[in-house]
Amino acid sequence: MVPGTRLVVLGKQGAGKGTQAVRLARHYAVPHVSTGDIFRAAVRSGSEFGKKAREFMDAGELVPDDVVVGVVQERLSQNDARLRGFILDGFPRTVFQAEALDELLPNGGVELVIDLEVPTEVVLKRLASRRVCVECGTNYSIEKPPSDPEKCDVCGGKVVQREDDTVSAIRRRLELYEEQTAPLIAWYMRKDKLVTVDGIGDPDKVTARLIRAIDLRLRRGADA
Ligand code: AMP
Repeated sequence: MVPGTRLVVLGKQGAGKGTQAVRLARHYAVPHVSTGDIFRAAVRSGSEFGKKAREFMDAGELVPDDVVVGVVQERLSQNDARLRGFILDGFPRTVFQAEALDELLPNGGVELVIDLEVPTEVVLKRLASRRVCVECGTNYSIEKPPSDPEKCDVCGGKVVQREDDTVSAIRRRLELYEEQTAPLIAWYMRKDKLVTVDGIGDPDKVTARLIRAIDLRLRRGADA
């Protein structure tokens, strides 16, 4: 992947987007930009902005488009993202956001959009058992907890269930995904930017699958 490549990872909540986006960012040495992480950091800081964001997040609702676009604009204008490219995780989530992203970026917007595909029954199970480190965001599950069940193996932070992983918030987030985010799949397909990757199975295998699909597709683009 050449420096400056801009990728988006799409997928339902619980598809493994966050975990895989972190790994891809490490593999390609580009910043991982997660709007969920940015909002969770704002909530932890206790700022007014964080308090407002938290109301939407805890209810499983989307933070308003203009607020999210402002946050992303600010992050992507930083040198690391401008020079090295980035992997966007959790953004765009609506067609409005995707259009705004195209306007923010020079040279025709992002190069590639990966849809990490996992059926709803599987994500429901994963979300109910998901646990996360409040400090560094590392994901665990009831089946694969950290060695000390409440302490993160990576940074020692507290490992908890996310506030928005309650049954009603999960249901609402999946509903919003179908309504607002799923249409982006067809939107990016029409622009010939979409690659679909099967997100089921061992996380290491999914990472290898993603890297193969991305490299193949970017090479094809470079040869064209
Ligand atoms: P995530 O970690 O990506 O599931 O995001 C957690 C929560 O942050 C979401 O349920 C939304 O409330 C909010 N959020 C994150 N990204 C966006 C976005 N692109 N648009 C609107 N709300 C967002």
